Amino acid sequence: MKKTCTNIDQFMAGLRKRNPGQEEFHEAVQEVASDVLPFIANHKDYQGECLLERLTEPDRVITFRVSWVDDEGNVRANRAWRVQFCNAIGPYKGGMRFDETVTESVLKFLGFEQIFKNSLTGLPMGGAKGGSNFNPKGKSDGEVMRFCQSLMTELHRYIGPDKDVPAGDIGVGAREIGYMFGQYRRLSHSFTGAMTGKGISFGGSVGRKEATGYGVVYFMREILHAVDDDIKGKTAVVSGSGNVALYCIEKLVQLGAKPLTVSDSSGFIYDPDGIDEEKLAFLKDLKEVRRGRIEEYAEKFGCTFKEGRPWGVKADLAFPCATQNELNGDEAKSLIDNGLLALAEGANMPCESKAQHLLRKHVLYAPGKASNAGGVAVSGLEQSQNSQRISWSLEEVDKRLQGIMKDIHGKCIEHGKGKGAGDKTDYVRGANIGGFIKVADALQEC
Ligand code: GLU
Repeated sequence: MKKTCTNIDQFMAGLRKRNPGQEEFHEAVQEVASDVLPFIANHKDYQGECLLERLTEPDRVITFRVSWVDDEGNVRANRAWRVQFCNAIGPYKGGMRFDETVTESVLKFLGFEQIFKNSLTGLPMGGAKGGSNFNPKGKSDGEVMRFCQSLMTELHRYIGPDKDVPAGDIGVGAREIGYMFGQYRRLSHSFTGAMTGKGISFGGSVGRKEATGYGVVYFMREILHAVDDDIKGKTAVVSGSGNVALYCIEKLVQLGAKPLTVSDSSGFIYDPDGIDEEKLAFLKDLKEVRRGRIEEYAEKFGCTFKEGRPWGVKADLAFPCATQNELNGDEAKSLIDNGLLALAEGANMPCESKAQHLLRKHVLYAPGKASNAGGVAVSGLEQSQNSQRISWSLEEVDKRLQGIMKDIHGKCIEHGKGKGAGDKTDYVRGANIGGFIKVADALQEC
């Protein structure tokens, strides 16, 4: 039998050699490998096939130039990618990110994470991610439309309801999905569920917009129930003010918790009285309709606006919901010293590795691939509704979302209970092993 590589240093040296300079990707693989390689070493069913090595090599990376015309009539150019990572358990599935920080390495890290996240949902979805270094911030609707249409002119060849189903991510919301889907429809001469996160009037699912934010709170509720505690009455520090953060705050309010902060790239507001329904309605209008700055919230409700990030605020729970690497080791220490009980990631890999290490040791820490899987889970439900040509009610979608988050939590408990520091549940290990098993079985069987 071929010898399986179970030595993490050797494994990572090989990966670095094959993917030079792709730091974000290396980090994501290292985190998974440090749980999965020891698991493989103890389970002979998974030996002899270098399954993790196969999983770290994307099926294909499609990359292309996107030319578009700005409002002054200049032809501009950006780079775009679609990383189709692994379709062992279902068609490729994952969001598109438009941001100037997007590189092939970032998309490989996100696509790799997506394999495990999608597997954890229990739905038949493979892993993928795509995007461009185009930044829609400050661009007119016309510019965004021309960019999205041009991107889809190339991308449409590679996607389809049984092939690859893109969705939104940072910088890609309802507007961008609409423009991309419209172009897909024209070019493919068909109306199919080739994208998710669509508008309700053209095949979208109710509850998709809320799903990631609601899901992360449902996951936190499970974490607390598992230690005989409850979310009601808990204070929470939340970062971000996009879709994920706003609906995380909404669900926290509905379940009787007290969210204290919200942030954007200019800084954060700290509202010691807590963000309530009325303040949230203002925030939604500010961010979703007017695309304004959160400083306006502080002016309207007379509370503090500060530059920087919100992690110095004392709270029981933390929800980083903005972007990757938004919480460093010192900030994690400050949260822990202030008595943090649990942290659930709404964004993908928001905690730097030093922060992860500390959080894993001192509090209940849920990695994004488990706690933010609600978004892609409802995307999966959107695909099911599209295939059946039916629309479920919000109640039905929400019930299924709660069930899926509970099941993901169950998988984390199955593989991580008592494995963490001080016999705590190690949610990172639980999610990594829980996500790996299904994909590894499929890879071996077909
Ligand atoms: N971008 C989201 C994620 O990171 C959702 C992807 C999707 O709905 O396909 O999981």
